[in-house]
Parts: sequence; C-alpha cells; structure tokens
Amino acid sequence: MLQVEGLVAGYGAIEALHGVDLAVAPDEAVALVGPNGAGKSTLFGVVSGLLRPWRGKVVFDGQDVTRWPAERRALAGLILVPEGRRVFAGLSAEENLRLGAYRRARGREVADRMAEVFDLFPRLLERRGQRAGTLSGGEQQMLAIGRALMGRPRLLLLDEPSLGLAPLAVREVADALSQLVRSGVTVALVEQNAAVAFGIANRGFLLDRGEVVTAGSVADLRDDSRVQAAYLGNPRG
Ligand code: ATP
Repeated sequence: MLQVEGLVAGYGAIEALHGVDLAVAPDEAVALVGPNGAGKSTLFGVVSGLLRPWRGKVVFDGQDVTRWPAERRALAGLILVPEGRRVFAGLSAEENLRLGAYRRARGREVADRMAEVFDLFPRLLERRGQRAGTLSGGEQQMLAIGRALMGRPRLLLLDEPSLGLAPLAVREVADALSQLVRSGVTVALVEQNAAVAFGIANRGFLLDRGEVVTAGSVADLRDDSRVQAAYLGNPRG
C-alpha cells in the first residue's frame, strides 16, 4: 500500500530525516513510535504531500506519488488526520464532515458516508448541528477522523490522535480506530501514548533522530528497551 524509500527531508538547513525506508501492507495497522523530535511528523508530512522531500520517494498503491500535491494524494485515498485536529471551528460538525467529501462524492454517496461516520461515532450524530469550536477535545478528534473518512481513505495517517484528550475520550477514539482497522481500513499512526499505539497497531517502527532504528511486531516492540526508553517519562505511556 505504501512504500517509503531513502527519504531525506528537512527544514531550511536542518535535515530531519536521514534516509528512511518503510512499508505498510494493505489491511495492516502500523504505529510509528519515537521520542520527541525523532521526525515522526516530518515523515507524515512528506508522505501526505505537505512537505517536499530532498531525496527519496513515496510510492502509494504502486504509483510514485513523490511529486504529487497533497490534494491529489488525498483524492487517491492517502489521507492525513493532522496533529491538533484542525476542524473548522465556526462550521457545524455536519458541515465539517461535508468538507471531507468535497470533490470526492456527491448527493447520495455523501449521505451514505456520513451515515457510516455516525455509526462509528454516534456522538457526532447528536452534535451534528453544533459548531465544531464548541465541541469537546474528544469530539473534535472524532470529527477530524470522521472528516477524513468522508474521503474514503485507503490509507489513513493519524498524527497523535489521543494527544490532549481526557482518558475517557482517549478510550473512545482508540476503540473507534480499532473498529476501523477491523473493517479493513489501512492505518498508520504516530502516538505518544504507547497503550493506544500498541492497542491499535499490529506492527510498528521506532524512529529516532531521523532514522528507523528498528521495526517489528507490536509484541517485539513492547519488549524492546529502546521503545520503552522512547516512552519513558511519558505518564500516559
Ligand atoms: P514531536 O513528537 O515532538 O512532534 P516528531 O517525532 O514528530 O516529534 P518532528 O516534528 O518531525 O518530530 O521534528 C523532527 C526534527 O525537525 C526536529 O529536530 C524538529 O526540531 C525539526 N523541525 C520540525 N518542524 C520544523 C520546522 N517547521 N522548522 C524547523 N525545524 C523543524
């Protein structure tokens, strides 16, 4: 589904990724773990098309998308839920969802997709008319995920979905993501909360200082002292 090869990227004179290789197979859920500043968000930026790599390539579903703009990747099904949710605060929950289907679906199809989102997040159905800015953090995260789902992702990238949420909301969002994975959506997520990351994913990569240090099954990673160190000092880990 996704292949990243020899990715080098950065900001100005700072090289943040020093040649990253990784692959995600269809139907799997992978977690990208690593300490602050490891390059996780940078990697997602390059994969989603928000950031141009200096070298290397991104192959999605057999096509080299390295030079595709983010919008074209999203239309092809490579959709990012960015860190910090970024819903349109002044628009209603339903309007936010409709924007996720923009240029991708119309009429009946939009209604069908919205019904699926409401099945996954019944809370959004209750709140559909409410301005997004007045929703709780957990509801805004559900909305951000729901908006991405309106675009029928084939690969959903989630950057820190549990960040800043209350414990109950963390559980609700994590349960919904597990349900999505079971329904066959391929997922890659960056997560500071180890329990969430390893509860959803079946495989993972440890990124440190811009390089993939190790990769393996969730069971292997859990026992890896480098992974434990990356989560050390994080009370939610
Ligand atoms: P965190 O969990 O703290 O977000 P991360 O693993 O996502 O960490 P990145 O945000 O990708 O890490 O950062 C990788 C490196 O790139 C860091 O050294 C960071 O300081 C640097 N960096 C990130 N964004 C920028 C930017 N906009 N301008 C300059 N440097 C940046």
